[in-house]
Amino acid sequence: MKTVPVALPTAPRAQVPPGVWLLRLGAMVLTFIIFLIDWLSTLDVAIAVLYVVVILISGDLFSRRGVAAVSVGCGALTLLAYLLSHGDAWLTPAFARCLVSLAAIAITAFLALKNKASREALQEQVHLLHRSEAFLAEAQRLSQTGSIGLKMPSAQMYWSDEARRIFQFDAQMQPTLEYMIGRTHPDDTQDLKSLIEQAYARHSNMEAEFRLLMSDGSCKYVRMLAQQVKDASGDCEYIGALMDVTAAKNAEDALHRSQSQLAHVTRVTTLGEMAASIAHEVNQPLSAITTNAEAGLRWLNREVPDVGEVRSAIDRIKSEAHRASEVIRRIRALSRKADPLHVPLDLGDVLRESAALVQREILRNRVHLNVLHPAGPMWVKGDKVQLQQVIINLLINAVQAMSGMQGKARTLSAAVGLTEGGDVRIRVQDNGPGVSAQNLPSLFNPFFTTKPEGMGMGLSICRSIIEAHGGRIWAESELGRGAALSFSIPAHGQARS
Ligand code: ADP
Repeated sequence: MKTVPVALPTAPRAQVPPGVWLLRLGAMVLTFIIFLIDWLSTLDVAIAVLYVVVILISGDLFSRRGVAAVSVGCGALTLLAYLLSHGDAWLTPAFARCLVSLAAIAITAFLALKNKASREALQEQVHLLHRSEAFLAEAQRLSQTGSIGLKMPSAQMYWSDEARRIFQFDAQMQPTLEYMIGRTHPDDTQDLKSLIEQAYARHSNMEAEFRLLMSDGSCKYVRMLAQQVKDASGDCEYIGALMDVTAAKNAEDALHRSQSQLAHVTRVTTLGEMAASIAHEVNQPLSAITTNAEAGLRWLNREVPDVGEVRSAIDRIKSEAHRASEVIRRIRALSRKADPLHVPLDLGDVLRESAALVQREILRNRVHLNVLHPAGPMWVKGDKVQLQQVIINLLINAVQAMSGMQGKARTLSAAVGLTEGGDVRIRVQDNGPGVSAQNLPSLFNPFFTTKPEGMGMGLSICRSIIEAHGGRIWAESELGRGAALSFSIPAHGQARS
């Protein structure tokens, strides 16, 4: 990974700018002038009080130690001027004025030092704040995670630099909810709008994943998490994290593509092997049928046909044909995986597990799946893996059928319930393109497919499995109005007990 050097703010170094030296010189001159006036003046006023001006100025020019030294110096000069002008005459008005000046100097020095200490503490905190902001910005850049704040109901927003970068908003513009919607992929704007509606409805936690359509036509996947906080005045604010998950999504998609390619190759290979096996096993009875038919014809074509020989040739043809159909039956049983394990199962549970297995495919295709089942279990007796295979096949077929749909929400429902006859039924219904009346009767036929890369084996295998469970499978559809594929199998005992 490429590393970029990070510039973090460091503590300000004690460097004295040239202007400060001039001011310090000015303060010294002022001090000297006050001392001269205090010493030489015959006015009956506490001139030394003016030293407070020097102490206040020194607050901006020196460190705390410097301010303390200036204060002590001013006190000393006050005493020196008194001694020089009044000698050792105590308890006089002049001495009282000197004490007032000393008290003013002491109080000012105390306040100036206190002020200086709080200013230094504040500066240190500001520096630490800048440093942690720089750390945060760097962490956001590295993790491609920005932060967004949203005040409600004013919809006033705060965006971190990384959040702006993800949305490609420049530093000058003030992002708004409208700008956000404008940047979102047209197919996903509804997802973002419902997130905003949740914010207006004051939901505590929110989460969404949507795509952004950038100005160069590229697509970005972002994930947003937000949590509600209340500020001191009781107003509601959302603090959110915005993650750019494009790289992870692309890697996941590439992995999924290779997985489905692998699955496809496996299916083709298996089918190829099955075809070779069918050809080999069926070829033997077929050649025997041909030989017997030729022999039968020869017996018939004689001048005096031998009906007895013809009959036995036809008998052999019959038994060879029976052998051929037995071979095909065995191969079909093989394709359903032999030795299924029939045990009591809750079909609602099987449905939930199957839906979880294809959750990724469902999310990837932006399909809204609704799994409906009654509160209690729905007992049947069957092979869990095979029934899962059937449900998954129905769900994937529906998802694939809807994958070409644009500008309309893709909805899929999978419901478990009871038929009028008391069997347990699963119905998978989509709002995709549906099946034409012409194709409907052929749906469960082996090798019937309308997909360019389809096998046409899925529904045929489903039918074999459901029939092996003593049930039935059927399809209902109207072209353009979606399709509903259902199967029912006998309940085990009392389905709802
Ligand atoms: P495959 O999908 O591999 O071609 P299947 O036996 O699973 O084989 O399905 C056969 C055909 O049935 C599909 O090619 C498709 O035309 C049709 N089909 C199945 N499910 C649906 C559905 N939910 N909506 C529309 N057509 C469907």
